[in-house]
Amino acid sequence: MNGNKIDEKIKSLMRVDYVGEKYAEVLIEVGINSPEELRSLEDGKRLREKINKTDKLDYNTSLDYVNNMIKAAKEGNYKNSIATDKYHNIRDRVFTDTLLLVYYENIYIKKYSDVDVSKEEIFNIEKETIERFKGDYKEMDRVRERNRKYKAWKEKNKDIIKVIKSLFLNHFEERLPYDYFSKEFYKEDNYNRKCEYCGITEKNIKLLIDEEKINTKRLYSRGNHMEVDRKESSGEYNKDNIALCCYWCNNAKTDEFTCEEFKDNVGSVFKKIWDERLTKCSY
Ligand SMILES: [Zn+2]
Repeated sequence: MNGNKIDEKIKSLMRVDYVGEKYAEVLIEVGINSPEELRSLEDGKRLREKINKTDKLDYNTSLDYVNNMIKAAKEGNYKNSIATDKYHNIRDRVFTDTLLLVYYENIYIKKYSDVDVSKEEIFNIEKETIERFKGDYKEMDRVRERNRKYKAWKEKNKDIIKVIKSLFLNHFEERLPYDYFSKEFYKEDNYNRKCEYCGITEKNIKLLIDEEKINTKRLYSRGNHMEVDRKESSGEYNKDNIALCCYWCNNAKTDEFTCEEFKDNVGSVFKKIWDERLTKCSY
């Protein structure tokens, strides 16, 4: 087994409350490789025995502690939930894109000497700016030149970028509140999320993986959990514009197809394929 695979297991186990790095290593040694496997245990006693037989800890683990780990896994109590990671990843990605557009509009096109952070509209990029921005990609030399200038601007303006970032965090949170995202939309780690387009659930994806009926080699980075799709792909991330979406649908939908086009045509074909594979599972 390669190192990356082990790291992924340790990382996923460490999400569960009470499981630190040492315990994650011990759990893997006694054959518990994921929060799901920890959750499926009925009895903490046997696990405790196994844990105490390993030579990884120089003390005995109490039954209470082991039961707390199992309970946390069952209840989906996680320190760094997948929802939190997803939210932060999306927010960081949107910030990267937004900062470039803010620079492009204010400094590159309008030739202002700096970004006026006193007005909140700095994030409302004009349509013409966006059109021009997209148009630049027809000539890569122009894009390269812009990127060079942008990089130099970023290096000289670290303080103002910090201010823009803090304004952006509020701006993003107003549109997509973290509480809504983590509690109502994405929910707990062990929640059985479902793809809006093809209807596959995370539980059934896991079943197909266990039965070796999933072919992608990217499972360690993508696939296991639902992704977050923007229904209208040029729109912003807000409550009305996001949908849970499996890796396969997300990859196929890209920014080309509308929600309806995709769901009615491609989604239903994917569903048929999943159903066929699921009927071949031995559960
Ligand atoms: Zn799907």
